[in-house]
Amino acid sequence: MNSTKALQLDLENITHRFGEMVAVRDINVAVAPGEIIALLGPSGCGKTTLLRTIAGFIQQTEGRVLFDGIPVDHLRPAARGVGIVFQNYALFPHMTVAENVAYGLQAHGRPRSAIGPRVNEMLELVQMRALADRMPKQLSGGQQQRVALARCLATDPKVLLLDEPFGALDKNLRLDMQIEVKRLQRAMGITTILVTHDQEEALSMADRIAVKNKGGIEQIASPTDIYDRPATLFVNQFVGASNLYAGEIVDRASGSTSVRLANGTVMTGIPVTALKPGASVWFSLRPEHVALDAPQSPGTMPGTLKTILPLGSQVAYDIELAGGLNCKMMMARTGDGELLAPGATVYVSATSATAGRIYPK
Ligand code: ATP
Repeated sequence: MNSTKALQLDLENITHRFGEMVAVRDINVAVAPGEIIALLGPSGCGKTTLLRTIAGFIQQTEGRVLFDGIPVDHLRPAARGVGIVFQNYALFPHMTVAENVAYGLQAHGRPRSAIGPRVNEMLELVQMRALADRMPKQLSGGQQQRVALARCLATDPKVLLLDEPFGALDKNLRLDMQIEVKRLQRAMGITTILVTHDQEEALSMADRIAVKNKGGIEQIASPTDIYDRPATLFVNQFVGASNLYAGEIVDRASGSTSVRLANGTVMTGIPVTALKPGASVWFSLRPEHVALDAPQSPGTMPGTLKTILPLGSQVAYDIELAGGLNCKMMMARTGDGELLAPGATVYVSATSATAGRIYPK
């Protein structure tokens, strides 16, 4: 497919302001050759602005973009060898599928004789060869996105930029396209940046995720690290579900930390932090780290089952704990056992306190 060596992409101290407003704040990321990094964050945190900076559509206020160690800031977008796929496909409506894919090759000055075979090869790759003569309006959203991808990949981009590429697709189609794009990205070994506000998409597609907030990066790490060890309360709250309780550190003497929650329950065995006893903290526990327990077990909290959400292979329970706290619990459904009924008295505890996280208040 593509035998050229994958490219190392470095973003050095990138800041971009629109007037007084800082849209991108001091970004430093080294993207390894062939790596796929997801920029994940809420609306307005500067994801698209950073992507447009890499592409060359925006000239950043400060900092440098380097391809294989060479600054590209002076280069026009077309000269950077970057391919972009947008959410809205951006196909030319008056051209057929094949003409859309050929367009990029013509614009890159490929010899006429090479264009036809390359168009066929790319349409084959995205399983669209049978529809080569259709117009874009005769295609479904997923098919249009496949064509947009083929058009982008046809020119052998050194860097692939994906801006919410699956945002307009329904859930099943989105999963198919995510698998497809990850397969192609791996096969072609293209250094890739994926912009998304969908945490599942970032967790499933990326080698590393950069969680963005207010222009800056809160944490950049592997999907499992982001999920299991969120470095800040923002990352903790943005990725995955959690039970968040106010508490106070009561002990951190024995290699682990204990926190007393507002309802008096003491959670023990939490990974040690730099925070001292007496510090006010947030204690976070994922719903899948809460389980039913025996009433007499230490650290067990009594509660009343309020709401039950059967989710197929899993079931989510919302429990009102003694002392006015709420607790979400997620359990795998095994066999065809009966679900608990609302109003039942239950006893819950943390399955593993080491899964709990503490953040300063
Ligand atoms: P979304 O997920 O909603 O697309 P985003 O994270 O991609 O958001 P950006 O589009 O990069 O965010 O915008 C970052 C900030 O910069 C926002 O506050 C936005 O209003 C502002 N902004 C973006 N483009 C411009 C512009 N051309 N002029 C002025 N402000 C802009």
